[in-house]
Amino acid sequence: MLPTLRRSVLLLMYMGGGALIAGLVFPVAVSMETGTILGALLWLATDQWRQRQLLDWLRQFAESSDSEPQGVDKEIVLRVRRLLRQKNREANSYKSRLDNLQAMLQAMPNGVIVLDAQERIEWCNRVACEHFGLDARRDMRQRVTHLLRVPALVRALAARDMNNAFVVDGPLSSASNPLRLEMRLFSFGQAQRVLMLSRDITTIEQAEAMRRDFVANVSHEIRTPLTVLSGFVETLQTLALTSEERKYYLALMAEQSDRMTKLVEDLLTLSRMEGSSPPDMQEWTPLSRLFRMTMENARALSVLLSETETPGHQIVEEGLETSMEISGSVRELSSAFSNLVHNALRYTPQGGRIFVRWQPNGEGGARFSVEDSGLGIAPEHLPRLTERFYRIDADRSRNSGGTGLGLSIVKHAAQRHGAKLLIRSALGHGSCFSLDFPAERLRLPNRG
Ligand code: ADP
Repeated sequence: MLPTLRRSVLLLMYMGGGALIAGLVFPVAVSMETGTILGALLWLATDQWRQRQLLDWLRQFAESSDSEPQGVDKEIVLRVRRLLRQKNREANSYKSRLDNLQAMLQAMPNGVIVLDAQERIEWCNRVACEHFGLDARRDMRQRVTHLLRVPALVRALAARDMNNAFVVDGPLSSASNPLRLEMRLFSFGQAQRVLMLSRDITTIEQAEAMRRDFVANVSHEIRTPLTVLSGFVETLQTLALTSEERKYYLALMAEQSDRMTKLVEDLLTLSRMEGSSPPDMQEWTPLSRLFRMTMENARALSVLLSETETPGHQIVEEGLETSMEISGSVRELSSAFSNLVHNALRYTPQGGRIFVRWQPNGEGGARFSVEDSGLGIAPEHLPRLTERFYRIDADRSRNSGGTGLGLSIVKHAAQRHGAKLLIRSALGHGSCFSLDFPAERLRLPNRG
């Protein structure tokens, strides 16, 4: 009922009641009309007072109060209170669900941006801020295309392209710090809102590029000796050669096939190391045995390189007769030691000096180092030397039997044994390659 109507009805009723009361209580002193009016005004005042009390109470909505309403008002109050409690509970439950959802979206490894129908940012997670250089507070309610001037994104939003992923450069991407993002748009809700997802695919693209380079490099490395071999085969098949000439060609063929064998062996060594967990600490080997093997091979290579009966280099050994033992893979460790010594021999002209040292550091660890007086390396090459197939002088490397994988193998073997590879070199002044082994991998044998 409308308040005015209610009041009129009430007034009528009160007047009747008031007249009755006035007639009964004050039959002589007060006239009928005055009593009616007085009674009505009294009821009206009482009703107004109760309404105000109820309103005040509802405004405060006190859980418990000294002046709790009574009667019908009490029921109204109880029902309102119950309703409000229920609504509060619902609101709290929605809020906690919303908080959970936001926390979940924050924890996602992908960037998430929610746009309204006008493409203004409604919400974004931390990863999206990192991907696009956004500020979650400052950039709220801004049109995304004003903030991110990425043509592919502008096109996709304009076309409402919701099916196809597209790849963009992150706005903060640079040559030294590239950032490639795969993006996808989804529309949701009735208000044409858009969910923008971004995923960092920089490392995936880099790995893919490395894989392509690797396949191209391997193919190139194998194709060269193969071409030479097939040329010689043709020569042997078509030309009438003397036995001397045949011997010469067969020796050249053997050289090429050795080169391919060495390449395949190095590739297998690398893939074995990449595909397995680091060697455990159970197997202990005397280092002097490993060094003896390494140095025998080194002297043989030096003789081979000198093309005489004697080694072409002066090889100096220091501390290699150690009694220390090392734990790990004998095959990987001897491959690492040999690669370093062989490189020193291959990149040091005849007559040069090579020091091979084993130096305990006094704290249980020790350093294996190979220092040569050879060609040396310009500083710009140093950071890339351990990349597969990275060579400074490809011809020199190949002619001396190199595959371009030696230092890559050394680096992997070192990492798997907790050792660090250090390279010090100056162009024209020789190089020093060292491996620093941690104390956990070394021990002195128990002579007890
Ligand atoms: P490679 O089979 O070509 O020797 P590595 O991975 O062992 O492959 O070495 C990579 C490159 O590093 C070599 O091609 C060479 O240019 C350079 N290099 C390695 N060791 C030395 C060294 N001791 N002195 C000078 N240059 C070196």
